[in-house]
Amino acid sequence: MAVPFRRTSKTRKRKRRTHFKLSVPGMVKCPQCGAAKLSHRVCKECGYYKGAEVEGVVND
Ligand SMILES: [Zn+2]
Repeated sequence: MAVPFRRTSKTRKRKRRTHFKLSVPGMVKCPQCGAAKLSHRVCKECGYYKGAEVEGVVND
């Protein structure tokens, strides 16, 4: 098994991890209320999808 010849420096490790980010995928603005929502899903703020309110969504 190959073994690393040199220890990875703190700088090199940190530079590599700049590409390692948290991201929330598929967030779009709700056309009804403007809140951030997941695309192709009912808005959890106003319960609307494709311009109509969807039944069976419980919002308190
Ligand atoms: Zn909405």
